[in-house]
Amino acid sequence: MQLQRFTIRYYLLISVFIILTATLIYSPLRVSADVSQPSSDSFKTAVFSELGTDLVDLGSDTYKDSSLNLARGESLSDLLQGTGISSLEAFDITDSLGSIIDMRRIQAGQIVNLRQTSGGRILKVSLPVSFDRTITARWTSQGWQSTEQLTDIYPIPTVVTTRIESSLFQAAKDSGIPLSIMMEAIGLFSFEVDFQRDIQPGNIVNLLYEKLQNKDGETIAAGELLYAGMELDNRKVEAWRYERLDGTVEYYEESGDSVRKALLKTPVDGARISSGFGYRNIPALGFSGLHRGIDFAVRIGTPVMVAGDGEVIIAGWHKLYGYRVMVRHANHYDTMYAHFSRIASGIRPGVKVKQGEVIGYSGNTGNSTGPHCHYEVHYYGEPVNPSTLKFPPGHKLESDDMNLFTLERRALIAEFNLQ
Ligand SMILES: [Zn+2]
Repeated sequence: MQLQRFTIRYYLLISVFIILTATLIYSPLRVSADVSQPSSDSFKTAVFSELGTDLVDLGSDTYKDSSLNLARGESLSDLLQGTGISSLEAFDITDSLGSIIDMRRIQAGQIVNLRQTSGGRILKVSLPVSFDRTITARWTSQGWQSTEQLTDIYPIPTVVTTRIESSLFQAAKDSGIPLSIMMEAIGLFSFEVDFQRDIQPGNIVNLLYEKLQNKDGETIAAGELLYAGMELDNRKVEAWRYERLDGTVEYYEESGDSVRKALLKTPVDGARISSGFGYRNIPALGFSGLHRGIDFAVRIGTPVMVAGDGEVIIAGWHKLYGYRVMVRHANHYDTMYAHFSRIASGIRPGVKVKQGEVIGYSGNTGNSTGPHCHYEVHYYGEPVNPSTLKFPPGHKLESDDMNLFTLERRALIAEFNLQ
């Protein structure tokens, strides 16, 4: 009896043990079978592959992808909270993205791609920050984790020749030139070409620029403008991109002169500024007001040079400015020089002048409190501060740079049949 009872108890124990074990083994199997089953819930597979080893259990939830644009004055955190998530979660996401990219550089207009569950949870935030770079934050079992995705890009040099019918913009549109490339060419020619007067229907524009393509040969952006040439009625203007041995990139003419011809900031040699641009007391005029130019203290008779190429529009007497000269330059710039002792011979309205040409001699005429040259720069007729004009100084290539530039230029001409 003792033994029998013991045996029954023993078998009971064994059975319970087996049932428990079976339950324990069976349960997790059922769970994992559920998850890995290729069911109609295809989102689970997608989430699984997105996260690698980290499986986010969405239960019966599904997700959707959407794309938003960052509005002016809106932070990424604002945008994320606008989808209904907490400020804390928005902070965690931006903090994670901030480990890869400086979030202060994210600007209005930035595309923000979101993956959200139908319950509003965010699973993924990705920011295409440039044509070849995307930063993505993903929700994982370790919290928000960000990675960077780079696209391989191949620059393909492309030549486009187009005839101007109405405007440069129309020419760009008609011939498929990216607007950014045409804008760059216009910027380069603006020192040399007056777009209102010089360009005529039938003029030719030649551009050599890079198309940036991905490995599938799809063009995703425009790269560098390598060469821009324009055949006008009476002359040809050219700009070649060249990276100097010191690493600086500029555009040059065949002669090695930079195409950027700044207006001279100082039209007289060896001068010191005696009065700057801005609001001040002007005792000579008996009132406080805007000093519309810059005064250079120089001895009477000092030659004054014209600040840039242009056409004389005024040369004569003015009761406040004394003997003065005004010159019209390309692209809505005018310069004015006042209180001359005399105007240089041959300087009269309609005469074309070259940068650095002497147009007069400083003096103390008109309403002037002492010998000086008063210099004004006007943009669209309004005085601007000459000392803050955003023109980089011109540059000329020399020795090794000039030799290398010439070799590179000839290679491009031969390869792309540019002339
Ligand atoms: Zn002045």
